Amino acid sequence: MNRWTIGDVKVSCIVETELPISYQEKYPFIREATPAALKEIPWLYPNFVKADGVLKLSIQALLVEAPGVRLLVDTCIGNDKPRKLIGNESLNSNFLDDLKSLGCPREDIDMVVCTHLHVDHVGWNTMKVGDQWLPTFPNARYLIGRKEYEYWSEDNSEDQIPVMEDSVSPIFASGLADLVDMDHVISPELRLMPTPGHTPGHVSVIIESEGEKAIITGDSMHHPCQIANPHWAVSFDTDKKAAVSCRKTLLNDVADQPVLIIGTHFAAPTAGKVVRDGPGFRLISAD
Ligand SMILES: [Zn+2]
Repeated sequence: MNRWTIGDVKVSCIVETELPISYQEKYPFIREATPAALKEIPWLYPNFVKADGVLKLSIQALLVEAPGVRLLVDTCIGNDKPRKLIGNESLNSNFLDDLKSLGCPREDIDMVVCTHLHVDHVGWNTMKVGDQWLPTFPNARYLIGRKEYEYWSEDNSEDQIPVMEDSVSPIFASGLADLVDMDHVISPELRLMPTPGHTPGHVSVIIESEGEKAIITGDSMHHPCQIANPHWAVSFDTDKKAAVSCRKTLLNDVADQPVLIIGTHFAAPTAGKVVRDGPGFRLISAD
């Protein structure tokens, strides 16, 4: 299991499931990320791309243990929720056992942050109890971006409606939701940073402690190939231009700096430092 220390803060990665993505001419995940184009970026192999050009992605949550707060960043797909992303089947993973094995049963989570309200970031907000969807983390405040919530509340797409119904609305109904600004300060060590583009209210999480710094990306970048080529956008960005501009700014800011980048969908080793490399950047993986 991947774990990192940033000053007084510990971050652990809980992988819910792997999501390999092969290139599809008709509906490409990232249009430019053809097997041939990926071959030009040798450092992506073997951790982030398979020999045949399949992109390796993970659906995972990050447990952040800071002084006085146990925060879970993004809650994956969840169990018992059939979703298009996973072939309309539902997962039955050991996610909660894995969390518990880190010394953190679900009752001990103080806060949940959803970087945005897509299907793979809100799933474990709730769990099925009988025929009800109840909050998985009954003692947590769930921090949800106000702008993000307002945007998706007005979205009537057939993919998003069930996500709101079973994974977001029950949190509001139970009184555990706090609508927050995109630069919300969580604790002296933890704060949100606006990274809009993939979705309008998308945020990343900044960790700063004892002079050390890390950024949990959320989906401001989905795959390390976008570090090499920040202009490569995923097909379902709400605003591709804004997403690209945001990614470029973020990478420029952290390049050659001692900042740990923790990729919300990056396959193991998941985190590293960014250095300039030709016209783009490169991830030097953390040990
Ligand atoms: Zn995602």
